[in-house]
Amino acid sequence: MQVMKFGGTSVGSPERIREVARLIDDGKPKIVVLSAMSGTTNALVEIANYLYKKNFDGANEKISQLEQKYFGVVDELFTTQKYKELGIELINSHFSHIRSFARDMFTMFEEKEILAQGELISTALMNYHLQETGRQSHLISALNFMRIDKSGEPDDYYIRENLQRELKQCGDYYLIITQGFICRNAMGNIDNLQRGGSDYSASIIGAAVNAEEIIIWTDIDGMHTNDPRIVEHTHSIPELSFDEAAELAYFGAKILHPTCVMPAKLANIPVRIKNTMEPSAQGTIIKKDVPKVPIRAIAAKDGITAIKIKSDRMLMAHGFLRKVFEIFETYETSIDMITTSEVGVSVTIDNTKNLEPIVNELHKYGTVEAEGDYVIICVVGDLHSNSKGFGGTILSALNDIPIRMISYGGSNFNVSVLVKSEYKSQALNCLSHSIFTDEK
Ligand code: ADP
Ligand code: ASP
Ligand code: MG
Repeated sequence: MQVMKFGGTSVGSPERIREVARLIDDGKPKIVVLSAMSGTTNALVEIANYLYKKNFDGANEKISQLEQKYFGVVDELFTTQKYKELGIELINSHFSHIRSFARDMFTMFEEKEILAQGELISTALMNYHLQETGRQSHLISALNFMRIDKSGEPDDYYIRENLQRELKQCGDYYLIITQGFICRNAMGNIDNLQRGGSDYSASIIGAAVNAEEIIIWTDIDGMHTNDPRIVEHTHSIPELSFDEAAELAYFGAKILHPTCVMPAKLANIPVRIKNTMEPSAQGTIIKKDVPKVPIRAIAAKDGITAIKIKSDRMLMAHGFLRKVFEIFETYETSIDMITTSEVGVSVTIDNTKNLEPIVNELHKYGTVEAEGDYVIICVVGDLHSNSKGFGGTILSALNDIPIRMISYGGSNFNVSVLVKSEYKSQALNCLSHSIFTDEK
């Protein structure tokens, strides 16, 4: 069994939906995980924001715009009267549901339900298209098996049991279509796996069915050596280890959801990244054993806040770091980078929801400075295979950029440096130029 996931751009137009149908119809049984058509989740977020502000006119206008777009999709995608009618019925029912939320009570629960409509619509449209074109497909709802627990982690046992039950009911259909991103939470309410979470869905599903391979189909030919939106002349990396891919995804390579590698790694299922627009391109394969190379790729994670705690009296006393970390734990805030010295400790966080109480509590232990607008630049490779010169190459490439923190040795795969956001593009370009140009 294969699991294939198609992102928003890959199903972003009737033409692309037809292309995906051709790609998946290769005679091999598979579960096909779809994102919402591109732009839809952003539009649904905008609608929800209007509803939070009780701006019903704004919400209704945006809802109607999106609905019109979908009527256009239905008209272009389907060729028979029967499926045109089914398509219109589908759009009417989802949009009247979205409109029903334009009322005074609007909470996070309603927002999650609105956000789920994008994936529910894209999968239903794909399933109708497959059926109209004579392919044997079956749609199962992720809401019947995908679930997160109280801490927001996938509930593996529940997912496996319920997905197996759903699959048994599919009989001998070999194309199973389901939604990425959406799930239920521990209370049974509709929830999601965070923005970009369809990759995570695919990996969780792959692990649950012990798939032979998980293929992430997207709009680029694999994981590149650097962010192609910022750096020119990046190239696709043919092979990555699970750990390298996990570091790159966690530290900002948008092509993969930050946590999507983990389920595949634990189940040892290779993940392939392929380009829907260029299916014959090799792409990237992520697997357990790959030949080691010193520096594989560079990524950047935005929206980082640095916190420095200075305490001449207490830092070296045993138990000091535990007390500091406990404060972050109490406020469910994870730390990305950490450096220590004789008189202080610096950490970075990307979730500032509880920054104020964290800083207030840290004051008990010394002076505290918190400053936002940083970015972590992360260089991923095999530190062990090139311990000589690895750090030097990175630091000399960043010679003209003020560095706030450096983290080296936390894992064998990653060196991270913290710089102000204004230096992000310069840092990525200098590193790319120095590392990959020299390499060539
Ligand atoms: P999808 O909708 O298929 O999930 P995404 O937009 O989430 O696609 O991810 C693909 C995009 O990620 C690419 O178009 C590219 O601009 C961006 N990207 C950022 N960093 C990288 C990288 N290191 N390698 C490849 N793509 C990257
Ligand atoms: N549709 C969701 C988003 O735009 C999930 C995904 O595409 O992975 O974030
Ligand atoms: Mg994505």
